[in-house]
Amino acid sequence: MKKIEMVDLRGQYQKIQSKVDDSVLKTINSASFINGPQVKSFQKHLEKYLRVKHVIPCANGTDALQIALMALDLKPGDEVITPDFTYASTIEVILLLGLTPVLVDIDIDTFNIDVSGIKNAISSKTKAIIPVHLFGQVASMNKILEIAQENDLYIIEDNAQSLGSNFTFKDGSKKKAGTIGHIGTTSFFPSKNLGAYGDGGAIFTEDDDLAHTLRGIVNHGMYVRYYHDLVGVNSRLDSIQASILDIKLDYLDDYNNSRCIAASKYNLRFKDQSNIITPIRVGERDSHVFHQYTLRILNRKRDELVKYLNDRNIPCGIYYPVPLHLQKAYKSNRYNQSDFKVTNQVVKEVISLPMHTELTDDQLDYISSYVIKFLN
Ligand SMILES: *Cc1c(COP(=O)(O)O)cnc(C)c1O
Repeated sequence: MKKIEMVDLRGQYQKIQSKVDDSVLKTINSASFINGPQVKSFQKHLEKYLRVKHVIPCANGTDALQIALMALDLKPGDEVITPDFTYASTIEVILLLGLTPVLVDIDIDTFNIDVSGIKNAISSKTKAIIPVHLFGQVASMNKILEIAQENDLYIIEDNAQSLGSNFTFKDGSKKKAGTIGHIGTTSFFPSKNLGAYGDGGAIFTEDDDLAHTLRGIVNHGMYVRYYHDLVGVNSRLDSIQASILDIKLDYLDDYNNSRCIAASKYNLRFKDQSNIITPIRVGERDSHVFHQYTLRILNRKRDELVKYLNDRNIPCGIYYPVPLHLQKAYKSNRYNQSDFKVTNQVVKEVISLPMHTELTDDQLDYISSYVIKFLN
């Protein structure tokens, strides 16, 4: 059996190696390393894939979030609502811009932001909500849209983990995650569902005015070279990464499907285990693209399980071990422990098993049999 990786990037590359190598060499030979035609080509293809009017490529997913917030022209002290249980990028950029993060607990079934928590967190200073589509599953966007409309709030979707997943509305229509709110952001970090071979990110919007502002901000606020209309940043997707992503985008649906199949196989193996809660998908099949396959372990032995698996050469991850409201960097006396009951609980229960596009049945058997053995 092939060595088990948390994410098998090399195995994935080998299957498309000649196409990727050709494309990278072509880009190097063209010497258009910055803002070359490869970036525009990828942008156009991603717009088509997402069925969104504007894609603005940038350097990484954290920049994408920061630039999205900058485009909204918020004032210091304005409040931005975001989940307590996620990667740090969201709260980090909110704080960097002098805005006030308002953290909200999560729904225990989906790990996504709790909708009633959003309602309770709204004040006269609230200006925006940043839901995170965590682990590959879209948040309850119908309800979040409703709340945002009622309270005149912006929505920025952090779609770093769910590129390609869909949200189905009541009337049966579907939209791609990241294209539902005012602005969506994503990351092409190598382990993401659409991973570059380095850093990368993008911002999406349907709104022409916002798109114009976002395009200015990513490029030092310049629309005409050396004339700065806005205070911006330097955040570019480089041409080599764009030429790789442009090839991999054709495979994204297949990749996401492979992840869904691996998740179903894990689910089947774990279905009679009373100490395991397998991932709960609330929407249709295409609403979850399994960036992570995350279990809840109910017998309080999660940390022992991690060690047991690692001793058997089975990698695993704890996403995330500490709620944002308890992180040293983000501590605030505005937070009450009682507001974060679910997050405080799940950080002790979650474990993410190997999840990628190259998992074999052998590997799935090996991983799940040891998980089961430990728990019984
Ligand atoms: C990966 C990730 C980011 C940040 O992306 P980078 O490209 O690493 O900056 C932001 N939010 C979430 C939820 C992520 O998983």
